This record gives sequence, structure tokens and C-alpha cells, in this order.
Amino acid sequence: MNGRIFGTFVATALAVAGLAQAQAQTRVQAQAQAQPPAQPPAAPQVPPPAGQELSALARLDPRASGIEDLAPEAAPGQTSGRAPGKVPERGAGQGAISLRLALSQPVPFRVFMLDDPPRLVMDFREVAFDGIDPAAIDRSAHVTALRWGAFHPGWSRLVAELDAPYVVASAWQETAPTRINVSLVPSDAAGLAAAARAHDSEATAGPWALPAPAVIPAPHPRQDGSRPLRVLIDPGHGGLDPGAEAGGLSEAPLVLAFALQLRDLLIRAGMDVQMTRAEDVFVPLDTRVSVARAWGADLMLSVHADAIAEGEAHGATVYLLGAAAAAAGHTAEELAARHDRDDLLAGVDLDGHDDEVAGVLMDLARAETGPRSDRLAQALAARLKAAGLRMHRHPVQRADFTVLKAPDIPSVLLELGFLSSQEDRARLADPAWRERMAQAVLGALDDWGAADAAEARLLRQ
Ligand SMILES: [Zn+2]
Repeated sequence: MNGRIFGTFVATALAVAGLAQAQAQTRVQAQAQAQPPAQPPAAPQVPPPAGQELSALARLDPRASGIEDLAPEAAPGQTSGRAPGKVPERGAGQGAISLRLALSQPVPFRVFMLDDPPRLVMDFREVAFDGIDPAAIDRSAHVTALRWGAFHPGWSRLVAELDAPYVVASAWQETAPTRINVSLVPSDAAGLAAAARAHDSEATAGPWALPAPAVIPAPHPRQDGSRPLRVLIDPGHGGLDPGAEAGGLSEAPLVLAFALQLRDLLIRAGMDVQMTRAEDVFVPLDTRVSVARAWGADLMLSVHADAIAEGEAHGATVYLLGAAAAAAGHTAEELAARHDRDDLLAGVDLDGHDDEVAGVLMDLARAETGPRSDRLAQALAARLKAAGLRMHRHPVQRADFTVLKAPDIPSVLLELGFLSSQEDRARLADPAWRERMAQAVLGALDDWGAADAAEARLLRQ
């Protein structure tokens, strides 16, 4: 058993490998488990990489890693090998699933289950998955989707979606060489639900918690031109959620590149700009809205470049909150549904945070925010058209996007184009085109900001 560490949390490695100051502020809480106590491993002392704040601590070796189905007879945790010891008998039912991750060094980690859909979530501090295709290690017939990547700064997450209920039978990290081994055994809906509930209380506290949605009692006052416009740019996706992928491009880095270009342009024009993410990191949808409200943004502009599976679509589209019109087809609904699903698969539970900010004041704010969002969308469509930028045949549409639901902040979602369209892909990848698009957005925000401020001053009189 030497060199084998049991426990959901392995509170080893914060001392390992010079953590950046920001990271070091977060402490990993060791947890009492019904398993042998954790032993600190002989962690190798690695000097911190120079000049890097958020360098990954451990690298995954895909060749020595794998997820496999075991024969039903095999006891959980019995095998750490790549190949099952026995061939499953026909009709013998489901066996355990064995997950093995070979890492360059030990990391603190945790494992938990979520349901709807059944999925295994693993958080690490911090594993580099860069450029490794999850398909390279997934050899299980019961893992229907596997994704990984940065989760929030300093943390990485792996999510394995399963085709049936499973629970964690064991999870441990061994050193020399470092491997994290997880064994999942078949369960039923009640067993999985109990496991997911057990995780709930721990997930909402401590260093693992995502930022809680901000609860702000009253809507903040609208801008009246007496100070610079506060623009929150929200680049879609990121981290373990790459967004749409087509033609060798993925949405998350593309929209981030555009957002950074736009940010610089708006700042030079004198606006006050924040971003929901400025790097390749996952930010849950409701956190994005919370950031807008906590900061007191005057408007929130989400930026995407999605793909459609069937049919043809080209050009930019501006989305407002609302039910999709029949004329615009199913695209809007599909996109909205997929965005929420991305969040769900990333291990975030979407359960009605809207309620926390309910109230008469918010209803009043909503009544005023809707028309202001409409005018923002129209200003964008007008400026894009004037700049000769290609727009979708329905340039302004409605969809039920979570990021459009701030009750008191005018919010629009700009689809720069469709990654599924070859022409749009070429435009999106062209910095000169992105600059023209950014200029058009700046023009629209100027137009809207001036008219919106004038209205605010009129309403006050
Ligand atoms: Zn998107």
C-alpha cells in the first residue's frame, strides 16, 4: 500500500510546485472519509515556472490513461490495468467502469456524481489537458460524452456523462508513477440521487464553490451620460466548454479573440469595460449574469459564433430575450437549449436562481429593460448593416438565452456568424474583419448610450 493515497481529497500538493499567490489563498480542505486516512506523499519539489501565473501543475499522459468497462464479475478497484481481466458474458449486465489518469505529478482532486443526466465530475488543482482529445482515453461503452479543461482559474474539471446511474466505489491517487484511479459501479436512480445530494452541501462551500449568484435587493440606477458607459463583454463558452466546433475552429477562442479586440477599442473610446472571462476558463451562465449585476453594468453584450447541424445559415444575428418567432425557424431554440446543456454537462446545476431576485422592483425594472434591450439590438443591427457586414436574413431574433435574463441590465447576444458556414469561418478568423465588426459595435454602443441617457434624463424630470 505504500505510495497509495486514499481519499476523495488529497490535500497534498499545495506545497508542491510553487503556486501563484492567488492560488495559494485557496486552501484545500481535507475531508474525513470512510476510507483510510490520507498520507502526505513524498511530493517532488518542482520550482515554479518563471513568469507564469496560472501554469498547470500536472500534465496528463493519455497513453497511460484510460476509461474502460470491466466485466460484471470484477470487483470495483480490483484492476488498474487497461484491459479487463475477463470478457463480459452475454447478458451478464453492466460491470464497473474503471478510470485511470496518469499524471506527471500528484494533485489535489475530488470526485462526485451528479444526475440528470448521470455524470461523474472530477476537479483537479490543476491538470493540463491541452491538445489531448478525450476520445483518446475513452474506451467505455457507457461514457457517452467526455470533456475536460480549465474550470475556473487554478482548477481543472473532467466530466464524464454516463448512459445509466453509477456511483463512485473508490477513488485514490497513487504516486510513483502518479495515477488517479476511480471505480464506478452500477447503481439505480435512487442510489445516484443520494450520491448527488451528498455532494450538494460540500459543493456550495469552501474553495470548490463557484461564485454564488449575487443577490442585489434593488435594481441599480440607469446610466444618464454623466459618466462613461459601463460595458460588460461576455465571450461565450471557455475552459472545458469549447462551444461550437467546425472546420478545425472552435467557438470559445474565436469569440474571446474578438472580445479582447472589442474591449481594447471600447476602452480607447473612453468606455468602462469588464469581461466575464478574459482567458480560456469556464464561467457558468448564471455567474455571467451575476457579474453584470454585481458590477452595475449599463449593458451586457454576449458574443458567440455557433454552428447549426442542418441547413444553411450565414451572417451575424442579434438575439434578445424572448420566445423564438416561428418565422425565424428552430435555430434560436436549438442554440438556447444547447447553451444551457453545455452548462449542465459542465457540472453546473441550473435551478432557478432567478427567484432570488424576484420582487416588485425587479418586475418594474424588467418592464423598462425590455425596450432598452430592443433599442440596443436595433442599434447593433443598423450599424452592422451600415458597415456592410453580412447579417442573417433575420438579423434580430429572440431566444431564451440564460445570459439575457438580468432583469435590470439591457442585454443582447451577438452571434458573429455561423461556424458551420465556410464563408463565416473565413471572416471570423480574419483579424481585419473582426476589427470592422468591433468598430460597428462601438458605433452602436455610442448611438444607444446617447439615446438611452437622453431618455433617462427625460424620465427623471
Ligand atoms: Zn455559443
